[in-house]
Amino acid sequence: MGEGRKATAAGRRLVHGCVGTLLLVGVTVAQTADDGYVRARLALLAEIRENFAQTAAETGRPRMSPAVAAALARVPRHEFVAPAQRDRAYVNAPLPIGYGQTISQPYIVALMTELTDPQPRARVLEIGTGSGYQAAVLAELVAKVSSIEIIEPLAGQARERLARLGYANVATRIGDGYYGWPEHAPFDAIIVTAAASHVPPPLIAQLKPGGKMIIPVGSQFLTQSLVLVEKTADGSVRTRQILPVSFVPLTGGH
Ligand code: SAH
Repeated sequence: MGEGRKATAAGRRLVHGCVGTLLLVGVTVAQTADDGYVRARLALLAEIRENFAQTAAETGRPRMSPAVAAALARVPRHEFVAPAQRDRAYVNAPLPIGYGQTISQPYIVALMTELTDPQPRARVLEIGTGSGYQAAVLAELVAKVSSIEIIEPLAGQARERLARLGYANVATRIGDGYYGWPEHAPFDAIIVTAAASHVPPPLIAQLKPGGKMIIPVGSQFLTQSLVLVEKTADGSVRTRQILPVSFVPLTGGH
């Protein structure tokens, strides 16, 4: 219990205390109760920044915003993987989380988060809670996160983990995310973290005018595309393909 809180608190002090210069980062690390992963998280952030620069032409986002970078610097990713995976928690790669599922690559989490333009007062829906990592990153940035997971044990573990780490603004439930969460709708943004064959109409319906959805579309063994869906003020929908990606499939009876 205490360890997770300390990890988060150390991250918070670091980010608020340093705003960027390496010298100050060094001082802050030395002065705070380092959770052992502070340097690894900062190294990962540097890699993610490079990935943003490398993919700028496709994504239209050459830089990660300071807010998203700060969120990634605060969330203790090692708390979201099994103990056997901890030494790989800050490698820029997806990792297994059991039940044939994965926690997404950190760059992809950063990019998907960035593409929704998260605002402090926003309400965001996530489909595919998995480990709860993406939900935690969003929870650092927006007012309220609602997250749906179809595999019961994963949903239970993520709920327990998010509560233990103090993420009180995340609501989770078990279910088929294809249908969204009508009781919590409408949403400013929706992030789908499993690949669908098409953009689910119930999710478009639950998006606010002016809202954004980011969703991998395609089949399991062929190329999938990360798609940005924007609902305009008059309710019409625009889509744009961003990057080829590889996600586990969106399952369920729909
Ligand atoms: N966002 C997660 C990664 C999720 S991997 C994280 O940060 O760790 C994709 C997840 O989507 C898996 O846990 C899978 O069980 C879940 N999933 C697949 N189909 C779903 C559906 N129809 N509704 C809700 N969750 C689904």
